[in-house]
Amino acid sequence: MSVDPVCGMEVKEDGTPSVEHHGKTYYFCCEGCKTAFSNDPEKYLNKSNDVSHGHHAGHHH
Ligand SMILES: [Zn+2]
Repeated sequence: MSVDPVCGMEVKEDGTPSVEHHGKTYYFCCEGCKTAFSNDPEKYLNKSNDVSHGHHAGHHH
């Protein structure tokens, strides 16, 4: 089992939509989550850092 980084659901690694990002494969419950992740992977991978704060103190790139 893997955890869908978009919605937090546990997903099987067999036959589910997946995306490779920085050499690691991520699995998703549905195409919608896969698309959301593909559009902005860092947003989901760095979730814990930045969701609750509205600041724009740092530059992303
Ligand atoms: Zn999902």
